[in-house]
Amino acid sequence: MAEKDIRIGDTVMVERAGDVIPYVVKALAKKRQGQEKKFSMPSRCPSCGGDVLVAKDKKKSRCTNMNCPAQLQQRIQHFASARALDIDGLGEKRAAQLVEKGLVTWLPDILTLRPNDLLALEGYADKAAHNLYNAIQQAKETTLARFIYALGIPLVGEHLAGLLAARYEDLPALQRAAEEELLEIPEIGPEVARSLAVFFTESHNCKAVARMVAEGLRLENPIFSGKKGILPLAGLKFVFTGSLQGWSRDEAKGLVQRLGRRATTSVSSATDYVVAGPGTGSKLAAAAELNIPILSEAQFQDLLNKKGVRVGTIRQREPSGRKY
Ligand SMILES: [Zn+2]
Repeated sequence: MAEKDIRIGDTVMVERAGDVIPYVVKALAKKRQGQEKKFSMPSRCPSCGGDVLVAKDKKKSRCTNMNCPAQLQQRIQHFASARALDIDGLGEKRAAQLVEKGLVTWLPDILTLRPNDLLALEGYADKAAHNLYNAIQQAKETTLARFIYALGIPLVGEHLAGLLAARYEDLPALQRAAEEELLEIPEIGPEVARSLAVFFTESHNCKAVARMVAEGLRLENPIFSGKKGILPLAGLKFVFTGSLQGWSRDEAKGLVQRLGRRATTSVSSATDYVVAGPGTGSKLAAAAELNIPILSEAQFQDLLNKKGVRVGTIRQREPSGRKY
């Protein structure tokens, strides 16, 4: 907009380009009435007034306030998703309802929902309300890595969440970490360090995190490995195939992603282990041909135990047996 001097209120010439988004050729300066304004990216979020973080390449500007109403529904969905806090029954439709009815005005409200609040919503029978309530209570006991991921910090996915949990024993230690210190962690570059530092100094975020802890959130950190912050499965490449009993394949991938390397989908000579459940086909043959060790689910679990990941203890408290 700056390059082409396109202003708010301008009449512009467009041309068809690609399928959907027309290409703006130029502004028709002759048609200006005098009220047209130049656009500048706001330094505070227009929806909530939160700080805006501009990416280094200036291509993206984001509101850093996790309680921003404009972001709330998506944040609830992410927070509750299987690889984050894994709250069964809190998907898109219900997240939208909770925001619309004002039952959730920021993320900590999720943790204090009562069955009676939910029964007041359309489409909730007694059982559904109690199931969701119970799922929320269970989700309060989780791991630091899952919680970091669930917060939806820009640029911080599952893998980086795992790296941070391996380096910092608990949440307060991570919150205190200065940008320079974060930069010493392998794989964490200046943009991620900046994003983390901004997130944990934003006052709304600090309040939200403190409130969630006060509401009984308990964060275990079985992958903390001290100052060096080495992930238990660092450097190991896994391929999952067939159906697993204890978790879905997606969850197993998430687990490996938090604990070390990203799981890949195809077997190659770089693969370290193939974890196979019943119903496997071509991948198993490929692994055998390349002499790659094939693990059953139980052997995979043993490997995790040997690496010091207390998978069993955390999973057992989950009645559905789905969470690691
Ligand atoms: Zn905002």
